[in-house]
Amino acid sequence: MKNLLGSSVKELENVALTYGQAAFRGRQIYNWIYNYRNKNRNIDQIKVLPLEFRNKLKEDGFKVSELILQEKNLANDGTLKLLLSTADNESIECVGIPTEKRLTACLSSQVGCPMDCKFCATGKEGLKRSLKTSEILDQILSIESEMNRKVTNIVFMGMGEPLLNIDELLWSIRSINEDFQISQRKITVSTVAVPKMMRKLSEKSFQILGNCQFTLAISLHASNQKIRETIIPSAKNYEIKNIIEDSKQFVRDTGRRVSFEYLMLSDVNDKSEHANELSNLLKGFQCHVNLIQYNQIDEVEFKQVSIKNLQLFQSILSNNGIAVSLRRSRGLDKNAACGQLRQNALNK
Ligand code: SF4
Repeated sequence: MKNLLGSSVKELENVALTYGQAAFRGRQIYNWIYNYRNKNRNIDQIKVLPLEFRNKLKEDGFKVSELILQEKNLANDGTLKLLLSTADNESIECVGIPTEKRLTACLSSQVGCPMDCKFCATGKEGLKRSLKTSEILDQILSIESEMNRKVTNIVFMGMGEPLLNIDELLWSIRSINEDFQISQRKITVSTVAVPKMMRKLSEKSFQILGNCQFTLAISLHASNQKIRETIIPSAKNYEIKNIIEDSKQFVRDTGRRVSFEYLMLSDVNDKSEHANELSNLLKGFQCHVNLIQYNQIDEVEFKQVSIKNLQLFQSILSNNGIAVSLRRSRGLDKNAACGQLRQNALNK
């Protein structure tokens, strides 16, 4: 199967030329896919193309979309979570998070995940496979279609570890930026940190995108190695001090500030001593900390921290000169934690 989604205007012009059509037919496909973002994403619907050309494309296995909506959950705050099935019958999740001015799409980069973080439902199933560029982009179109508005911001914080699928990740960022017209600065790539991969990410980003302007968010979730290993088993392969050193190198290579995600888990990493230890770790470094309230899920034992404790932790970091913000969980009421919807479907 050949998916047209993710192709540049030049590539679509070449598809048209290959079929003996004028190059502008390729531009018509391009406009239909990216500028109009049609709800019924199949080749039959590209009515500006001659019928014969459409039939040829279909006969040769071309598609615009492969993902099929399996289930959706709308939370009271407007957060919409979609469970989508792939052509090989796997399922993935994506989330649309609306505010008045923004619609943020939280995208998956893999089916399942090999990282096995203890607080995450996705990690329980292990990795099935990595997603293709078209499958990553298809999630944006699915969210737009269900929410009836255009996505403005992207976070790669859904299922999977994006740094284990770097090529498809960066090719999808190329398309999000150039074809969907969403600035790289409105894209965040979230990683639990994989040895050697931050360097590879910046190098490949310069090769594929010509620069590296998206935000890298590192899921630190702990102020020391011991705690980190208890919640992220893969952390034993990557010392926290090396993560900080590699993050500093990423800042030097790209000129972009790094974000550290810190999921607050009651009685695990939420004490004043942890806030002070984290401050010492990050002192003098061009970074930002996002404190996140944990979304409690049935399968794991962690508990949510109160807003009062979150705010106390935040004030300690702030008083120590660390840039910090607090991110409250959205869509708490409807299976909103990473991997929960898929997990529920697998349990049925
Ligand atoms: S939190 Fe992210 S990296 Fe960790 S298991 Fe879940 S999907 Fe994978």
